[in-house]
Formats: sequence, structure tokens, C-alpha cells
Amino acid sequence: MLQKGKQNSRKKILDRGDRFRNITINHFQLSEFDCNCGKCSYKGENMDIDFMIKLDRARELAGVPFKITSGARCLEHNKAIGGVPNSSHSNTPCNAADISTTDSRRRFKILGGLIKAGFTRIGIGKNFIHCDTDKLKSQQVCWHYY
Ligand SMILES: [Zn+2]
Ligand SMILES: [Zn+2]
Repeated sequence: MLQKGKQNSRKKILDRGDRFRNITINHFQLSEFDCNCGKCSYKGENMDIDFMIKLDRARELAGVPFKITSGARCLEHNKAIGGVPNSSHSNTPCNAADISTTDSRRRFKILGGLIKAGFTRIGIGKNFIHCDTDKLKSQQVCWHYY
């Protein structure tokens, strides 16, 4: 994966956690997936590697920035913000993320990227799109939060 002489051309490299040492993610920093409560230790280092690779691919295919509004969530924070009790955001490793959507064109692009990248679990909120790769839940589903 790492080619000699090309190291400098690699963009952001997720190497903060041992698990991600040899994994290249071009469009995200793990810290973007830290639990938003600000006081727990459930950080982006706990993200699922396959999920992150798939999300990075979706971002590439979508061609627009993905602003992550929620990644990993400790159980306390998930409860505090009204997340479902068995939320995939609280899985270990975490295999879920919410992406901010500001308008319909961006929503369309993000959705297209996610589907092309192979996500089969997508939720549509008023100003975000949820995606996860939770194998223990229904596949080929797209729900809403209204
Ligand atoms: Zn937390
Ligand atoms: Zn979500």
C-alpha cells in the first residue's frame, strides 16, 4: 500500500491508533468521529476499519465534503441526545456515522456516494444522513427520522 517516494503525496493518514497504522484514509481524521460528549474516552480510534474505508470511498465517489456530525457515541451521550438504545453509533468498534446535509443537491450527492460505495443501511434526517455497516441489523434499508 505504501509506495516508496510517494509518502509525501499521501494526504491525511490516520495513524493515531495502532489499528489504523497501515490504513490510508484520504478524506477524514479519526478525531472527527470522537464522541461529542467531550468527556468520555470513546474516540475515533474506535471506529471500525472496514467502515472507515467504505466511508472514504463514498466520500470520493460523492465528490463533496462529508462533514461528520456524529461518529462514536458513549452510551450516556447516545441516551442524552435521544439515540435509539441499540444505536450502531455505540457499537465497539463503531460502524456508524452521521453526515451533515445542507441542501438537496448535496444530499443527493452524498446519498449517491454512499450507495455506490456499497452502504446498505442509510437513514435520512432533516439535516443529516446516517449510514452504518451493522451486520446484525436489516440490510438494504433506507429509513427517515421524521
Ligand atoms: Zn461520550
Ligand atoms: Zn446516526
